Amino acid sequence: MLDPRGELAEWIRYLRDIGIKELHVPAAAPPAARTAASAREMPVRRPAADPRPAAPRKGASPESRPPATKPAAPASTPAPRAAPAPAAPSAALSGGLAAIREELGDCTRCKLHERRRNLVFGVGNPDADLMFVGEGPGADEDMQGEPFVGRAGQKLNEMIKAIGFERSEVYIANVVKCRPPGNRDPQPDEVATCSPFLFQQIEAIKPKVLVTLGAPATKLLCNTSVGITRLRGNWQEFRGIPVMPTFHPAYLLRAYTVENRKKVWEDLKAARARVDEG
Ligand code: SF4
Repeated sequence: MLDPRGELAEWIRYLRDIGIKELHVPAAAPPAARTAASAREMPVRRPAADPRPAAPRKGASPESRPPATKPAAPASTPAPRAAPAPAAPSAALSGGLAAIREELGDCTRCKLHERRRNLVFGVGNPDADLMFVGEGPGADEDMQGEPFVGRAGQKLNEMIKAIGFERSEVYIANVVKCRPPGNRDPQPDEVATCSPFLFQQIEAIKPKVLVTLGAPATKLLCNTSVGITRLRGNWQEFRGIPVMPTFHPAYLLRAYTVENRKKVWEDLKAARARVDEG
């Protein structure tokens, strides 16, 4: 883990990398002071954690995740289980993230359970003002049971830090909670089955702002078929919550142009400003 000076240097490097020479974050502390040390002084209303840590640690279209670099190891792939009849999440699940996780249990509601190692529920501050939503776990996330922990996760962490937050201060979740084989996009039936749990997470967290990462999350929360390339940077809404669509960090890694990085930076700055507006 980097020390605070190292983290600050990394953050400054990211800003330079995207061509930013000056930064104004409309918050109480100046951005230069937002090192990890200063961030620890920021009030965190509740501790950040998956309310139910994953059982044994077994974690995108141009706008989503990259193709898998290797298939899941057959030797460690659990044997397929017979899926019971799909069950809709109960309407009574409004008792917070723990209740939602409890309701999910060892979910077999859709076919994605067959090859997962870990169900990836979500991570972060359950009282977050800012929530990021991706499409589904990749290989690293499936292994670790936590969203955005691979290379794309590191990029997301940089993006979060660049707007003055720590990863632990925001909440991160996905449309589907089990890894789609080969990192394909989640299919409509999988999205339809799993997304009610995401909706409940959003209801429980009540973020001030949502940021959708990539096409599948944007299509779902913004209820649109418009592509992310056209939609990014334009405010949308999900149940009264402002939504800023932007590129998935994995896409950014694949198409690492100054233009794309600036677009994402503009989107995130807008999201941060909206959070600060209250
Ligand atoms: S993706 Fe969602 S609905 Fe499908 S098995 Fe996993 S948790 Fe259940």
